Amino acid sequence: MHDVIIIGAGPAGLAAAFWCDDLGLDTLVLEREPRVGGQLLQVYNPIENYPGLKLANGQELSGLLSAEIDAADFDLWTGVEISALNLKAKQIALSSGEELQAISIIVATGVRRRMLGIPGEAEFAGKGIIESATRDRELFAGHDVCVIGGGDAAAENALLLAEVCPTVTVIHRRKKLRARREFVQRIESNHCLTVFSESVVTRILGDKSVEAVEIVRKEAIKPFQMAVRGVLIRIGVEPNTEQLRDQLQLDEKGYVVVDSKHETSITNVFAIGDVSNPLAPTISGACGAGATAAKVIASRLT
Ligand SMILES: Cc1cc2nc3c(=O)[nH]c(=O)nc-3n(C[C@H](O)[C@H](O)[C@H](O)COP(=O)(O)OP(=O)(O)OC[C@H]3O[C@@H](n4cnc5c(N)ncnc54)[C@H](O)[C@@H]3O)c2cc1C
Repeated sequence: MHDVIIIGAGPAGLAAAFWCDDLGLDTLVLEREPRVGGQLLQVYNPIENYPGLKLANGQELSGLLSAEIDAADFDLWTGVEISALNLKAKQIALSSGEELQAISIIVATGVRRRMLGIPGEAEFAGKGIIESATRDRELFAGHDVCVIGGGDAAAENALLLAEVCPTVTVIHRRKKLRARREFVQRIESNHCLTVFSESVVTRILGDKSVEAVEIVRKEAIKPFQMAVRGVLIRIGVEPNTEQLRDQLQLDEKGYVVVDSKHETSITNVFAIGDVSNPLAPTISGACGAGATAAKVIASRLT
């Protein structure tokens, strides 16, 4: 019997684990990936808004967290798969056969990038699907590319690609880009960038790597193909809550509903970080939520 089991070893789960450790709680962290850090491993831009630290990228923060884990006392199991989860009973079964029990559970499973679910998307991963403009743009220098999505992340990546690509086409579904005004103005004044509004990409085409996308535009009579060598997709995120459905209260987008203690609709089950914070997902917010949940749990055990 553990005092606390934390699911997810991103910033939220690890902040909670450090606090639980400091507060003398018997703590186990379960992470499905082989490495800790969560989304930090995909942050290639500098992190300049985490108080007290200026970091080159998310890998650097993840490295600092890993060093802190080495000095801490909690248990961390990486590469685990949860096969059954009973939140009311606080029981977790792993596909490796272990059966775990805790007094409290903290859900810190974060979010993942939303996929388009169209032909070619999975097939061309690493073969023309651009993971990050910051990391990959030199690989696509001199080639025509497109960016799918109309928010800040799509716009920011399009502007970075336009520094090295002859043409960048931003393709999005709405009438107007949702990105902040500063990005939209820069896109409109950059002759390398074209915006296709009210448009949908229906297929990514190619032989060994991406060669074109098929686009359906509202005013066009039929789908047409546009030659590109790279496709970057930023159409938002969705919470990792599949295993929680039908067990606790989720909002209409699948995020966990919590109160000011970060407690869910089930007593002694907490949710922290992006999985319960659709409005302002940040590293500092995730860490703060971890501290709150840990302190509430400790106060109930003493
Ligand atoms: C490109 C990019 C740039 C960003 N830049 C900034 C920035 O400059 N400043 C800032 O404050 N924030 C930034 N963010 C946001 C920040 O990374 C997130 O707010 C933060 O990582 C949220 O932490 P989390 O622990 O809640 O979730 P995550 O980081 O998503 O971690 C969740 C963890 O849970 C694990 N998990 C999921 N499901 C299971 C399961 N069933 N079993 C076990 N483990 C599971 C995942 O593998 C993952 O390790 C950025 C994000 C991205 C993608």
